[in-house]
Amino acid sequence: MTLLVYLLVAIVVLGVFFLLLSSAAAAYLKFRGTRLVTCPETKEPAAVEVDAKYAAFTAPMGERDLRLKDCSRWPERQDCEQQCLGQIVSAPEDCLVGNILTKWYGERTCVFCGKALGEIDWLDHKPALMSPERVTLEWNEIPADKVPVVLQTHMPVCWDCHIAETFRRRYPELFVDRSWKPRESHLSS
Ligand SMILES: [Zn+2]
Repeated sequence: MTLLVYLLVAIVVLGVFFLLLSSAAAAYLKFRGTRLVTCPETKEPAAVEVDAKYAAFTAPMGERDLRLKDCSRWPERQDCEQQCLGQIVSAPEDCLVGNILTKWYGERTCVFCGKALGEIDWLDHKPALMSPERVTLEWNEIPADKVPVVLQTHMPVCWDCHIAETFRRRYPELFVDRSWKPRESHLSS
């Protein structure tokens, strides 16, 4: 009889432990990553990162205890009340920078070759951008809080064209064909 009680207690403890662990893991996956919010103070875009480990730790108590790990306005405004967290709680997926970029590229074609960018390979062949000065760049050259402006002013470029264009820019003497240029039809759209 005693053994049966011990067994039941062990099963209950394991069950509770598993539930806590799964809710912590879900919270961690949900809140990791860089997000774009509208700063309640400046009404301008700010790039923030939720403290995902803390969110996982406090997951059993709900999402009331979220806090930021980083913000593009820090360290100057590190003492703010972090009211932007409300925007993240109400739409956690929509403000993820990765999701914003995936959606933007998914609806566009490369300005050089016209290829539909569709599904993005962010590991090996991540897409790039062309600036208004017609220089291609990668996303790691752009601060996250500038993403909204950049999406308005820059054009999408596929990985292959970015590599080719970078090569052309560095070694212009190797290229006889000077007619290589972005497709005008894309520029005017
Ligand atoms: Zn291309």
